[in-house]
Amino acid sequence: MSVIKKRIKNMYIRVLPPDGKVQITVPYTVSDDLIRRFAISKIQWIKKQKKSFEGQPRLTKRQYITGESIYFWGRRYRLDVQYSDAGSHVLPAGEKLVLEVRKESTPKQREHVVNEWYRAQMKQAVPKILKKCEYIVGVNASEWRIKNMRTKWGTCNIEKKRIWLNLQLVKKTPECLEYVIIHELVHLLERNHNDRFFGYMDSFCPDWRIRKAELNQQTLDCFEG
Ligand SMILES: [Zn+2]
Repeated sequence: MSVIKKRIKNMYIRVLPPDGKVQITVPYTVSDDLIRRFAISKIQWIKKQKKSFEGQPRLTKRQYITGESIYFWGRRYRLDVQYSDAGSHVLPAGEKLVLEVRKESTPKQREHVVNEWYRAQMKQAVPKILKKCEYIVGVNASEWRIKNMRTKWGTCNIEKKRIWLNLQLVKKTPECLEYVIIHELVHLLERNHNDRFFGYMDSFCPDWRIRKAELNQQTLDCFEG
């Protein structure tokens, strides 16, 4: 287990692929005792994460085949690939997410089908959540867009009041999406991540640290398969 000290406000823990190495990132002010207790409180989760790495092909990409795990709004589904020449579809059915594709489709083509479905689902969900967040924060975004990003959950162009949301958020809980939207809207009030910014976060989204931790934990989804 490694501990990294940073200028942050809340602790977070990650289990890194492919070996399941545990990394805790903490603020400078946190005591060793608190770090230890934090790690202990996460033991079950750590075990689960480590287990999920076992038996997973390393450095291989998702194949989009039956049995793979796939996430949608924070829920884990089992992918069920069915062959059809009638066109491509994605359909949640209980614990399963049915992916209908042509038999000869490549993983890349299947990924495209899933991502387009994800995008449509997210497009449908964002307006309502954004409206709620705009009401809470008291500012409006002039425009929002979805983009598949590798490193950021969201960005905000302050001058244009434009918000970009990571397509990957559709895999997380709606509360995580709400947290990211509030974060980006708060940037319209305060550009920097300073005390004023976090003061706004505390008043607009009092449990934002929990949601952020959830988002960071679930970042691991991206490494799956
Ligand atoms: Zn920010």
